[in-house]
Amino acid sequence: MPKMLSYGAVGQEVRDMQAALNNHPPTGLPLLAVDGIFGPRTLARVKEFQGNSKLAVDGIVGPNTWSKLLTTKPAEIANRVGINCGTHDAGSRAIGEGLAKEFLSFANPSSAASPQSRFVQGTTAAAQSSSNPIRMLTDAQKTTAKSVYGNSLDFSRIFISNKTGLGGRPFTIAFPDSNQIVQIMNCGTFSPSQKLLIHELCHVWQSQHHSDQFKFMSNAVKCQGKAVADNTTETFVDPDILLHKDHPVQFPFSAYAYKPGLTLNQYAAEQMANAVEHGEAGVRTHVKSIAMNATDSNNVTALNLTVVGDRRQKGVKF
Ligand SMILES: [Zn+2]
Repeated sequence: MPKMLSYGAVGQEVRDMQAALNNHPPTGLPLLAVDGIFGPRTLARVKEFQGNSKLAVDGIVGPNTWSKLLTTKPAEIANRVGINCGTHDAGSRAIGEGLAKEFLSFANPSSAASPQSRFVQGTTAAAQSSSNPIRMLTDAQKTTAKSVYGNSLDFSRIFISNKTGLGGRPFTIAFPDSNQIVQIMNCGTFSPSQKLLIHELCHVWQSQHHSDQFKFMSNAVKCQGKAVADNTTETFVDPDILLHKDHPVQFPFSAYAYKPGLTLNQYAAEQMANAVEHGEAGVRTHVKSIAMNATDSNNVTALNLTVVGDRRQKGVKF
């Protein structure tokens, strides 16, 4: 067993202890710099670890604390099970803009026909023209949508394409048609899985219930940018982060990672979509309760947040 360590200690054994502490995800504090100095941050982390491990919280790393540090299996960091959505990242944006042009070429300004009449040849996928790059939702898809979003969505403005963004990631884009703003979910298929449909429909919901119907796109890209910046900074504290497969975009910080149980106005665009996709009761009740095409002040608040979640923290879902 390594020697007993307490506040003020320095050296290799402190370094070993700090590295061992970093192997156990902190629940509220940042990871430690492995610098061999038992200072105030290390002391706080030792006490947090002792509390979480049901040890005496004395800040002294003696035999019991060492034993827990070295033998307890570190908590597994969950892999992403949700939709990996590329809403408004640079590559996806370019694809989306190309698609918008394609859409607008259908929206011949000399034609009085609404986009709906141009794209709806039927209410099942099979009945819709296979040559159209964009379709409306089928009746079955609307039923799925209503099971989560109630009557809060205006289906007349929602379109689906089989395109994807950068890296094959699905994404949703809003853009102006002649006299309205429409939303296209680019799902890689006209028959997305239920999870994918629910996730992308949340971005549609964010668009339709905001005074600025494009806001969800800039919010998503801002949060993803913050995650990359924070993840880069974090490598100075813990270089092992560089080895994680999701670094630098989604580990340890991710625009999708969220703490369950918060209210909708506390989640930014991707966190909200992920929480709705995962079936969190609070946000699901909220989205359902908003009237069709009404601006929701909670949504407005949410899409002003530039926040990311830390996947190493206890209880955070990804
Ligand atoms: Zn998304």
